[in-house]
Amino acid sequence: MRRKTMAAPPRQIPVFRFAPSPNGRLHLGHALSALTNAKMAAETGGRLLLRIEDIDLTRCTPELEQAVLDDLDWLGIPYERPVRRQSEHFPLYRQALDTLIARDLVYPAFLTRGEVKARVAAFEENGRVWPRDPDGAPLYPTEERNLSPEERAGKLASTERHALRLDMEKALAAVGHPLSWQETGDGKRGEISADPAAWGDVVLWRSDAPGSYHLAVTVDDAAQGITHVVRGLDLFHATSVHRLLQDLLGLPQPIYHHHRLVLGSDGRKLSKSAGDTALASLRADGKIPSDIRAMVGI
Ligand code: GLU
Repeated sequence: MRRKTMAAPPRQIPVFRFAPSPNGRLHLGHALSALTNAKMAAETGGRLLLRIEDIDLTRCTPELEQAVLDDLDWLGIPYERPVRRQSEHFPLYRQALDTLIARDLVYPAFLTRGEVKARVAAFEENGRVWPRDPDGAPLYPTEERNLSPEERAGKLASTERHALRLDMEKALAAVGHPLSWQETGDGKRGEISADPAAWGDVVLWRSDAPGSYHLAVTVDDAAQGITHVVRGLDLFHATSVHRLLQDLLGLPQPIYHHHRLVLGSDGRKLSKSAGDTALASLRADGKIPSDIRAMVGI
């Protein structure tokens, strides 16, 4: 009699991604992120995908995207092709948004950034403090959650543009249990409690772009089967929002690894305009990829 051999369960191959936004040139901070992803993928026998986060069609350009690809090739980052572009997946973000709308968790938001700023300034004039999110931005006022259908229709008819925001209170109630994530990075490690409420009513659909960072990143990590999200510590707290959206949309949760940041000589996080830390400037100065690795400590 032939004995049935039990097939070993298939090993899940780790899938990493580097996800730059082509709204400026890559700098040393991006190099650290891309190199850390590549290193972790190599060490675990994993795959490395590249995602171009270009939902902001006014700031992201094909020229900047090409420059990103050139910098990564020069650095020797072994990412798989084809590259995923967020601008090619807007219907997918819309579908996720519609799921949240169908659950009554989304509302149109009409206040401009300037109006929110003025509101906060007026509130804080006599010593009160308006709540801020983990990035230091004022939380969006919540009164539009409760507009009557007539008021809402009136505003939709009379306002040129509006954003769509998540009603955080309803979203948390819909989830109904505490959220957390598994963290292996350079800051706090282990099981981290998520605190999405700290972000208030986050934007899901910008008034000037089809989607938002939080929505697109969450949907794409699932669509690409990402098992390990490796990115800078500046996005540590944003993970709370991503965990919330994953739970609401029934998406799997990756493991997170938030790595240390490369700071400028002023001790601050590098920005896209950080001229002399741009990989292109360093390359023009005669630096080679091994110099870049040494500079970021990889
Ligand atoms: N596109 C984001 C950035 O360039 C990174 C997103 C992520 O890794 O989650 O800062």
